[in-house]
Amino acid sequence: MFKNDILNFSYKDLKEHLQENLNFKTFRTDQILDWIYNKHVFNFEEMTNLSIDARNKLSENYTISNPEIMDIQKSKQDETTKFLFKLDDGALVESVVLYYPNRIAACISSQVGCALKCTFCNTGKLGFQRNMTGGEIISQVLTIEKYLDRRINNIVYMGMGEPLLNYDNVVNSILNLNDKKMRNLGARHITISTSGIADKIEELGNLDIEIRLSVSLHAPTNYQRDQLMPINTKYPVEELMQACEIYQEKTNKRVTFEYIAIKGFNDSKEDAIKLTELIGNLKSMVNIIPVNPNPAGYEKPKREYLMKFANILRDKGIDTVIRAEKGTDIDAACGQLKGKHVN
Ligand code: SF4
Repeated sequence: MFKNDILNFSYKDLKEHLQENLNFKTFRTDQILDWIYNKHVFNFEEMTNLSIDARNKLSENYTISNPEIMDIQKSKQDETTKFLFKLDDGALVESVVLYYPNRIAACISSQVGCALKCTFCNTGKLGFQRNMTGGEIISQVLTIEKYLDRRINNIVYMGMGEPLLNYDNVVNSILNLNDKKMRNLGARHITISTSGIADKIEELGNLDIEIRLSVSLHAPTNYQRDQLMPINTKYPVEELMQACEIYQEKTNKRVTFEYIAIKGFNDSKEDAIKLTELIGNLKSMVNIIPVNPNPAGYEKPKREYLMKFANILRDKGIDTVIRAEKGTDIDAACGQLKGKHVN
């Protein structure tokens, strides 16, 4: 029998659903959500402040997404931890936990695989299987928290998949993670990272919630970006930047641009100047990321090249960070760990 996943419901919808189907009062909904989001209990039988009859009815009619942990790799250098999860239908997805001095962040997946075939990405090479449900997206966070016995402070939709191509489920998961009655994670602690789905970036600007937007730019010209990210032929850089401007007009929020630096491809002084021209007056920040191990065999630029590149951007008033590399001794790059299990 088909059972609804509790994690797919908004607070209001769950309250109404449980009222209509099981004749539960509102406080029951609050109790169930407290077990799931605060106590990390994913089994109705263990919800001991509910009557046995209520627990039985819940088990008969509902499930709670709770993926199996198939593999874990932990970096000896910086504790970066990669999880491989098996979803109910056997599909595999990855999440990564990153440790910072004052917080921990989880990088989570939004699709099983990805259709966009970015040349530097292991997930792109594995192909697209399906969208994840909102509940499956949330369950990555809750399962990690239970395993670590620690709350996650920041969530980044930068794992497997393109979040804006699974727009409705991703937005539902964000609203639930943010809801005070559910995970109660501040919206400013949630970042969506996109390869540049221009029309959806504009739509994201209509959301009444202050999440952060990060755009994987990676190259300053169409000629270069076409070679890295085939999606650029659909949404070329001019259209992408225009969508970012519209997003900023609607939200007044800074946009982060991710820039994977590749030796001899997009790391020259000319590339940096073109990038400053492209960004123009947009309120932004640029994250320069030395390229991870990748299927195309791209190499990292030398540190001094990255410093020069960053300084050209800074001289034009663009906030620029060279991101510290994490988890280099494990398969931390997107799609690497899953690749090991499906090949
Ligand atoms: S980088 Fe992101 S959008 Fe590109 S193929 Fe990989 S998962 Fe998909």
